[in-house]
Amino acid sequence: MAKIYKKIYYKDGIVDESEARIHIASSAVLYGLSVYTVFPVNKIGEEFFIFRIEEHLKRLRNSAKLIGIECPGECESLEKFLEVVKNLIKENSLNENVFARATIHVDELVPGTKSKGLNTILSIFLYEAKPIVPQDGAKLKISPWRRNPDFCIPSRAKVNGAYVNSVLAKQDAIDSGYDDAIFLDLNGHVCELSAANIFIVRDNILITPDNSADILEGINRKTILEIAEAENLKVEERKIDMTELYIADEIFTVGTSAFVAPVINVDGRIVNSGKEGKVTNLLKNKMQKIQTNQDELSKKYLTKL
Ligand code: PMP
Repeated sequence: MAKIYKKIYYKDGIVDESEARIHIASSAVLYGLSVYTVFPVNKIGEEFFIFRIEEHLKRLRNSAKLIGIECPGECESLEKFLEVVKNLIKENSLNENVFARATIHVDELVPGTKSKGLNTILSIFLYEAKPIVPQDGAKLKISPWRRNPDFCIPSRAKVNGAYVNSVLAKQDAIDSGYDDAIFLDLNGHVCELSAANIFIVRDNILITPDNSADILEGINRKTILEIAEAENLKVEERKIDMTELYIADEIFTVGTSAFVAPVINVDGRIVNSGKEGKVTNLLKNKMQKIQTNQDELSKKYLTKL
């Protein structure tokens, strides 16, 4: 289990972990009716920085909009939201890099299966920034579970209840001796991992499924595409066939909790002789520099708290 920091923002203030409790009869518990995002808070020198916070807040608000729930007041402006995060860091006497999970919960008791006009609250907790896949080479299994399509539960919304889909896929992969799963869509095209996006490299072209491929619109995915453009790499956002995974020169995964991690094995087939590829390495290093305020793009992406 990851370490969770003791002070949590819950409803309208910072409380002890034991007080941050949601009712068992709330829609959040009954139907998984909550939306969330996870963003990194990095300690650089004596200061704290958040990576692409505007994008995270925008996606959180869009997730709420997509399932038709209200945003609590703290999410209305970046200033208000940042104030909450800043206080949380102070109250926890934070001294290291962490992930922050911000969730909008529907806190209404037994309202039935509906979403509109219901009370919502915000919670934010900080936890250990532990990667969800091995950073030196992940082994992935193509999942027998398909990604739930946009017309069932919108993939571009981070809806808590929808993560049952990810849990099924990830657990199946772990049970089979792999680190994580690769989801295919209903037509057999590649989507993403259980909680991270995917890129492949073929003949020096960087390829990733486009945003209408039943994927989460990952903020790190978007950043990789922007970095690739700045590096003059050839990029294709398009459908990826399953068999392209078996012949790709490189594969890597990207996300807040996956960071940028090479994939060295898909279904037991070895990728790039089991080593991190050149393109992966270039993009990974660039991403690390950006996130640690050592790159000219850092200014664009980092917000100092
Ligand atoms: N896909 C899914 C299903 C995810 O849960 C995540 C993690 N948020 C990602 C992709 C990566 O998104 P991001 O880069 O915004 O963390």
